[in-house]
Amino acid sequence: MSGLNESVVHGSKATAKNLPSVDKLLRHAAVAACVAEQGHTLVSQEARLLLDARRAQTLAGELSLTEVALDTLATDLQARVAQRLAPRLKTVINLTGTVIHTNLGRALLADEALQHVLAMMSGPNNLEYDLATGQRGDRDSVVEELLCTLTGAEAATVVNNNAAAVLLSIAALASEHTGRREVIVSRGELVEIGGAFRMPDVMASAGATMVEVGTTNRTHPADYERAMNERTALVMKVHTSNYQVQGFTAAVSEADLAPLCHARGIPLVSDLGSGALVDMARWGLPREPLPQEMLQAGCDVVTFSGDKLLGGPQAGLLVGSRKAIGRIRKFPMKRALRMSKLPLAALEATLRLYLRPERLTQDLPTLRLLTRPLADIEATAMAVQPALAAAVAPRYTVRRLALQGQIGSGSLPVERLASVGLALAPVERKGVGRALDALATALRSLPEPVIGRVADDELLLDCRCLESPESLLRQFSELSACIKSS
Ligand SMILES: *Cc1c(COP(=O)(O)O)cnc(C)c1O
Repeated sequence: MSGLNESVVHGSKATAKNLPSVDKLLRHAAVAACVAEQGHTLVSQEARLLLDARRAQTLAGELSLTEVALDTLATDLQARVAQRLAPRLKTVINLTGTVIHTNLGRALLADEALQHVLAMMSGPNNLEYDLATGQRGDRDSVVEELLCTLTGAEAATVVNNNAAAVLLSIAALASEHTGRREVIVSRGELVEIGGAFRMPDVMASAGATMVEVGTTNRTHPADYERAMNERTALVMKVHTSNYQVQGFTAAVSEADLAPLCHARGIPLVSDLGSGALVDMARWGLPREPLPQEMLQAGCDVVTFSGDKLLGGPQAGLLVGSRKAIGRIRKFPMKRALRMSKLPLAALEATLRLYLRPERLTQDLPTLRLLTRPLADIEATAMAVQPALAAAVAPRYTVRRLALQGQIGSGSLPVERLASVGLALAPVERKGVGRALDALATALRSLPEPVIGRVADDELLLDCRCLESPESLLRQFSELSACIKSS
């Protein structure tokens, strides 16, 4: 503000009369350059909104003359335009210690999957075109053969997510024209997955009549048998993926249930949730039931997720008998739940990785992170610690410690993954809660937000998912400035 005495300018309040018109603001050199680049529509719209906001502030006596100066408003306007154009969806640095984090986008896609998506989305493709005959094809055929090879199923189909797969299975097999609407399920398996996905509600949405059998902790074969009748559409088994019942418990396995169902011509459906396609025990991870085992046990349909342990895109996979999958595929709801070409390409590429299981821990990020050697995680923590300590000093201290992570927030809740991380603690013991909130907020407001977790008066940063610390280290000067100003 050349020629003006700053203190005088700061001291006097601006009124609405001090504000320029939209046109005048748009003629400012920097704004005109912005219009040339981004177009008149966006910039003039933001100029109007900015001046409206500033007018309200001047009426409340909140603004100084400097704040309504043309140069200041031009700078504010450019910031507004940039902010409006900035993506809302952005990558974050997951230091929560949970590898498959439902709120942070779940599984990370493999390079092969990313490249296949990019290649397939850049032009037309044979999504529903049979290149052998030149006739219309079926998009399921992109992944059906792979799924059958990997699980031993006769047939397979895919939808948008596993919730849709469960809903569709029930709706198709217990549909009105079958005359059979009852779905038998154990009281020990009436799960809530999160959000509005609760088994009783899903049954109701699918138009089925739920028939609960057994008790919360114990269900026996005779419980199922007593409930089976000519109205039974299917028997449903649900893998309790986000909780465990311990102690005096009994459940009927798919292998024991299948003969009871088949003797009466009733299909058996199993919702596996996570559905790893390989035995995780070979890498020292907790064992999850496999779709191929469920099919061998006699299930007619097995459903599982694409973006949990499988490590692919959001998808609901259904494998099973030709008859049951055929009915599901022909059910009208399938068309409404069908997968789009974008995740379908990612799913195909991800499934192909499973043809080479020995390479999975390199090729599949989810498995790579789950099997990451502790020494590696510790080395990352050590590499980050000094720079982090410098960035948050003198308000916070940083120490390295052993942590217990999780495989997924919605799957395998009980098992813990030994890990290493950094704990940040406020030096001033008064107002610890506020100091930790300020730190967590500062980390979240970085250009690539950093997400940790708070426990026992410390902010914990688990280093398992930090494979290359560069993007974190690069942001430490910004973090330091943010902490100092808070
Ligand atoms: C996660 C889960 C679902 C839902 O799968 P989405 O792919 O998230 O839709 C359904 N059933 C079980 C048992 C699950 O664990």
